[in-house]
Amino acid sequence: MSTDQSLQPADRLELGEDLRARMLEFYRHLHANPELSMQEHRTAEFIEAHLDTLGIEHVRVGGTGVVGVLRNGDGPVVGFRADTDALPIEEDSAVAYRSTARGTLEDGTEVPVMHGCGHDTHVTALMTAAEVLAADRDGWAGTVLLIFQPGEETAAGAKAMVEDGLWEKVPRPEVVYGQHVMPGLAGTVEIVPGAVMAYADSWKVTLFGEQSHGSQPQDSIDPIVLGAHIVTRLQSIVAREIHPRRAAVVTVGTFHAGLKENIIPASAEFTLNIRTMDDDVRERVLASVRRVIAAEAAASGAPEPRIEELYRFPRNFNDPAETEALTGVLRGVLGEGNVLEAEPKMGSEDFGALPAALGVPSVFWFFGGFDQATVDSGTMPVNHSPRFVPVPEPTLWTAATAALAAIRSKVAR
Ligand code: ZN
Ligand code: ZN
Repeated sequence: MSTDQSLQPADRLELGEDLRARMLEFYRHLHANPELSMQEHRTAEFIEAHLDTLGIEHVRVGGTGVVGVLRNGDGPVVGFRADTDALPIEEDSAVAYRSTARGTLEDGTEVPVMHGCGHDTHVTALMTAAEVLAADRDGWAGTVLLIFQPGEETAAGAKAMVEDGLWEKVPRPEVVYGQHVMPGLAGTVEIVPGAVMAYADSWKVTLFGEQSHGSQPQDSIDPIVLGAHIVTRLQSIVAREIHPRRAAVVTVGTFHAGLKENIIPASAEFTLNIRTMDDDVRERVLASVRRVIAAEAAASGAPEPRIEELYRFPRNFNDPAETEALTGVLRGVLGEGNVLEAEPKMGSEDFGALPAALGVPSVFWFFGGFDQATVDSGTMPVNHSPRFVPVPEPTLWTAATAALAAIRSKVAR
């Protein structure tokens, strides 16, 4: 798929060289100064300073969350969310604004930090859109909520904002938009109605056995054998209990047990991650996982295992009518050939928690971040790779244009 070269976003965004240069500066600054989830203090201050420059009132919500409230008379209220956090990744790139930042995880571990999921492009696009809207008060009426959300990577940020009273502090929007950079051609966006990103449920399971000498299995209840049965049997849930055309994934990502080859240990521990697209499938899979764990423990004569929830991501559901309308708008500003149909992703995002808390519709789409040569090479980096560094242009123009077009589709005069 090639871009429609006659329709570069840069031509369509009525921004002078000034803002264009500033947008690149925002991006380079953010990229070089990433912060870990729920520790986005300097990022929040950077955003607040920009909003101050533009004369946009703002409020802190959920610790390091910042919401700019751009009021411009009577009219619709629309929300746009950009996530602000980075990841514990050591950047492997040659760009001049490469991150050498370090941070400290909650458990005290010091780690390198990188915007390895491209949230710096999201923040840059929304800061740029805010600047255009603030300078064009004659062109629209209403209120725009510029929602800079922390902690997406840990599923803590949207929840923290909602629990901190986000929707009591700002006017109720009629729709909330959001976007994410992905491996794909810069200049293109991908959008699809309906379920677009999966529910994610992560659990920790502790199995209890009876410890004994490795030579005396008759005196043991072996939690490793029990765990092996559980892990294997869990894979039969998707294969044998779910309709082949419905999406579900069950992944056991860690398994730890024992200290020595001739000791049957007292316990074993594993974590699993469950992805689903629909409520009924989710309920079925979660119930089946619980059933298999309990039944295998019973089959081993072991005590009941302990199941703890680690975290949960909501699903992202694109309101069909809003998505159809927005798809037309994006085609208008980006060019027909640059708006592609997205494949729903089994990845997750906590964006959906924001509109869900209010019961308002939302639309979430993706934009590409790589040039044609990288796309053609077949070695395009994926999100969370140490090489996931989108090309600034036309990635940022595309994201800023899409954000602006979505907002204006609601508030333009
Ligand atoms: Zn990510
Ligand atoms: Zn992300």
